[in-house]
Amino acid sequence: MTSVHQLLHDRFGFSHFRGVQEAVIERAIGGQHTLAVMPTGAGKSLCYQLPALARHGTAVVISPLIALMQDQVRSADGFGFRAAALTSASEDPRAIRDALRDGQLDLLYVAPERATTDVFQRLLQEADIALFAIDEAHCVSEWGHDFRPDYRLLLPLLDQHRDVPRLALTATADKRTRADILVQLGIPEDGLIVAGFDRPNIRYHVRPRDGATKQVKSLMTAQSGPGIVYVPSRNAADKLAEQLDSPHRRVLAYHAGLDPQIRQRNQAAFVDSEEMVMAATIAFGMGIDKPDVRFVAHAGVPKSIEAYYQETGRAGRDGDPAEAWLFWGAEDFARARRRIETEVEPERRPQERERLNALAAFVETATCRRAILLRHFGEEPPERCGNCDNCLEPPATIDVTTVAQKLLSA
Ligand code: ADP
Ligand code: MG
Repeated sequence: MTSVHQLLHDRFGFSHFRGVQEAVIERAIGGQHTLAVMPTGAGKSLCYQLPALARHGTAVVISPLIALMQDQVRSADGFGFRAAALTSASEDPRAIRDALRDGQLDLLYVAPERATTDVFQRLLQEADIALFAIDEAHCVSEWGHDFRPDYRLLLPLLDQHRDVPRLALTATADKRTRADILVQLGIPEDGLIVAGFDRPNIRYHVRPRDGATKQVKSLMTAQSGPGIVYVPSRNAADKLAEQLDSPHRRVLAYHAGLDPQIRQRNQAAFVDSEEMVMAATIAFGMGIDKPDVRFVAHAGVPKSIEAYYQETGRAGRDGDPAEAWLFWGAEDFARARRRIETEVEPERRPQERERLNALAAFVETATCRRAILLRHFGEEPPERCGNCDNCLEPPATIDVTTVAQKLLSA
């Protein structure tokens, strides 16, 4: 029998598992349902790819975005997998269906909308399924930051194959979201595995916004290497790129409003570059594997702590020092609050308010930033991390007793 270590070495060329990978993989191979909460870059794909080889049949991977699936198929191809994605963009869907039925696929990627159709369910009845992997599993929960109603329809599908192990994976789920995922996907409580969330090489800084372009510019002067600047709108991305782009330091824009070809080209340029800065909306980043990003800046408050953690998590994946900067304004919070009260369905407002309050607490704290992030993900942090703005330069606090004494003696 081939051991998991041998597979890791022979098929992936890696010498050892990272963090909780081995524990997750052992469970999947052993047929147990699991929810793995692992930070971005921790290597979640391997957790279902390897069991797909070790178990008989095809691993069916539920994934929310075509772009993400295509990326995964490409990377799986590189490891010698027989992988395909069944999407509206598939060139030959029939060949994929035949390959699945004939047991010729290691991995099949499919979106929840398609997975839950009758046609697909019938197809699965004829196939040999090694496991179900549910990627970006936070989409199943209304408490998560990216709720996708179709994820809710997965449970009946999974329940048609009770003996097939389920592996739900996510980088961004707080305690409540995790509990919800377990229920929604029928995973027992003891199937939860949480990896360490700390990214000790990332230094967090938070500053009031005071001319975002100027602040980003001086950040770029102080900080070499590739960077990402997240801005709140497409327009802001174009403008920032226009203002800061120079022959010495390319600054390109990335957002969903750009021509797909230009977007693709800008992304490719960024991935290859050792100096480039991307001025981007949150459309940028998912599935991009660039280890040497040296800084991620936000020129406006992100959507949530989860989003912030995920976006800043794109910095320093190589383990070398990296920086996260957040430039915020009171108007960001005012706008977000207005949006919640006017545009969000009433029953979702309490959780959205809570999400915003958590963000406000992070921004306004005079204590360790990392501690706030880690506690949000249910980890007990050390008192002070020594690598965030507040730990490095504790904000001046007013000594109330001295002030009172002065007032009294005046
Ligand atoms: P995630 O989905 O958790 O963000 P990925 O699955 O995309 O992360 O993996 C990130 C990178 O780490 C990939 O390039 C992957 O090949 C690599 N990787 C995963 N596991 C290992 C390992 N055990 N040793 C070395 N590299 C690994
Ligand atoms: Mg992933």
